[in-house]
Amino acid sequence: MSEPRVDPKVMESIVSLCKRRGFIFPSSDIYGGLSSAWDYGPLGVELKNRVERFWWREMTQLHDEIVGLDAAIMMHPRVWEASGHVENFDDLLVEDTVTNERFRFDHLSAEQREKMVSPAGNPLSAPRKFNLMFKTHLGPVEESASTVYLRPETAQGIYVNFKNVVQTSRVRIPFGIAQVGKAFRNEIVTKNFIFRTCEFEQMEMQYFVHPSEDEKWFDFWRAERMAYYDKIGIRPTHLRWKEHGPDELAHYAKAAFDVEYLFPFGWSELEGVHNRTDFDLSRHAEYSGKDLTYLDDQNNERYVPYIIETSAGLTRSVLMILADAYEEEAVGEGDVRTVLRFHPEVAPITVGVFPLVKKDGLSELARDIERGLRESFTTFYDQGGAIGRRYRRQDEIGTPYCITIDYETKENGTVTLRFRDSMEQIRVPVGEVEAKIREATKAYRRVGL
Ligand code: ATP
Repeated sequence: MSEPRVDPKVMESIVSLCKRRGFIFPSSDIYGGLSSAWDYGPLGVELKNRVERFWWREMTQLHDEIVGLDAAIMMHPRVWEASGHVENFDDLLVEDTVTNERFRFDHLSAEQREKMVSPAGNPLSAPRKFNLMFKTHLGPVEESASTVYLRPETAQGIYVNFKNVVQTSRVRIPFGIAQVGKAFRNEIVTKNFIFRTCEFEQMEMQYFVHPSEDEKWFDFWRAERMAYYDKIGIRPTHLRWKEHGPDELAHYAKAAFDVEYLFPFGWSELEGVHNRTDFDLSRHAEYSGKDLTYLDDQNNERYVPYIIETSAGLTRSVLMILADAYEEEAVGEGDVRTVLRFHPEVAPITVGVFPLVKKDGLSELARDIERGLRESFTTFYDQGGAIGRRYRRQDEIGTPYCITIDYETKENGTVTLRFRDSMEQIRVPVGEVEAKIREATKAYRRVGL
């Protein structure tokens, strides 16, 4: 089995597979694309929805103290003053004075920053501050009173609903609020496919705790989040923690760790776990004039909760899952198969169903079996071409199971069940296919782990 490499060619193969097989297309493709914006095709939207559902289940259904929320993208402009985004959400932009290529100053090496030279060795322009928020106007009149921003993170929608949730749900501290949604940042440099885009999706969970327990819950959530990546089938050797040093900490944070993943272009951030202290609720209380303290009526104590944040990119997670799953595997003499080893829970299609041949009633029988499985799984019916090629097409899009209906099915009611990773084939009675797939999904471990 080939190990994924830090290699631009792997990235190119993933981008090309995504386009060829309908995972991800450039936005407005027929017009030549729009830099850094991407559309999720039939398989891509299934994959993204499943990753989201996996996270949602993990963070809400499996925790009775975490509730969900879906806040609006546009919020009162004061929110972004209170949060510090109007004042501080800047990146430093520098330009290569010869090629005019732009860079984020903090993305250059220490040596380049010190010498003020670009990666090509040319002199850089003086750093300029650049606010990342997209600004627009609400209503027909463009005046400053109508200015709104497209949210650059989903977190603030959670903080401003803290009081609503406490008053209407039966939550008691410690508790969390989870949200998945779009966020927008006018990034100076967008690159690496869907890794850094101006429009993206985040999966955030904000956990409200007693100030004396912040460190305990911070450690708890760090452990939980790493365990999640194992559950979703990511190779542990491709994940690591990176702690923010004192000079890197955001203005609101007491402690911050990033989960980094070994992408084909190197180690990069996937998720942040932050101890945000009481900064957010205190600031919103100050700017809104509302009381955002929490009353613990059992201990008769009133306080501003601390917040432990887990903030992951959904679209960035999709790229990680594609990169981790992608393999070109040597099978036999000079033969290589491309396979996406998705965890069965996130694979866009769970079962491929094929008749061995189109004739002798096998197509009809296969169709019937496929319809029977639809209630339980996402299925794909394919009767075109040699059976080996049909298997390979499903390997390439990461379908974990395929079943083939042949003459023996007519005689004794059994089908061939083929497993994507091992390519093992077993005979199973039709009535047991569903249970077998569920069992294999539950026990799924990626090969080599
Ligand atoms: P960076 O320093 O790389 O710009 P950040 O530290 O500002 O990122 P956060 O504000 O912590 O990122 O956002 C939380 C998560 O949201 C990130 O870990 C990432 O997964 C995702 N994310 C942030 N910006 C983008 C983007 N432009 N495109 C895609 N995902 C993003």
